[in-house]
Amino acid sequence: MLAVDNLGVRYGNLTALDGVSLSVAPDEIVTVVGANGAGKSTLMRAVLGLVQINSGTISFDGQDITRLPTFKIARKGIALVPEGRGPLRQLSVRENLVLGAFSRAWDAATKADFEAVLDRFPALRPRLAQTAGTLSGGEQQMLVIGRALMSRPKLMLLDEPSLGLAPLIVAQVFATIEAVRGMGVAVVVVEQNAHAALKLADRAYVIENGRIVLEGSNLLGDKRVQEAYLGGS
Ligand code: ATP
Repeated sequence: MLAVDNLGVRYGNLTALDGVSLSVAPDEIVTVVGANGAGKSTLMRAVLGLVQINSGTISFDGQDITRLPTFKIARKGIALVPEGRGPLRQLSVRENLVLGAFSRAWDAATKADFEAVLDRFPALRPRLAQTAGTLSGGEQQMLVIGRALMSRPKLMLLDEPSLGLAPLIVAQVFATIEAVRGMGVAVVVVEQNAHAALKLADRAYVIENGRIVLEGSNLLGDKRVQEAYLGGS
């Protein structure tokens, strides 16, 4: 469904991504783990057309999307949940969810999705009128995932969804990601929290200094991953 082939991104003299190839199948949860500055956010942003691509191609559903503007990529069915959660803090929960559907008509199907999101995240329902910036960290993460669902994506990209959340909340967020896949949405999760991400994913990639150095479906059991990312456990 998503195929990234030999992608290269530079910021001036700095090579942020170098020959990165990655694929995601429908209904698959793929994780990309790597340290600070490895290039994870750049990869997410490149897929959405938010950074300039120097080489390589990106295709989605068999169509080349490499240099399409972001709104066209989003319209094809890719939603990004950016790092730092970033709900529009001054807006209410309701307004955030409605904005998630900006590319759709506010018709019966969209209203049904709005209700489905509130059923999925019951904590949001009594808070519809509350300003998003006053939600707890976990509630904000639910809101941004809910907002992304409102666009009816085929693929959801999540950039470090566990960042800054307490362990119990991280577990809830990861359970939510599993539920998103259950709705027929493919998922890419980029994480520094390698243990949680590898447990969740069907398949994983390890990125170091802008290059994919490992790929597999059981990286939790991989000695190199254990030593470098799991504290040798
Ligand atoms: P983190 O987990 O800390 O967010 P990351 O793996 O997401 O890290 P990126 O944010 O993709 O890493 O950054 C990759 C490299 O590119 C880093 O060295 C970073 O400093 C650099 N970089 C990122 N954005 C820019 C930019 N707009 N201009 C210049 N350099 C950038």
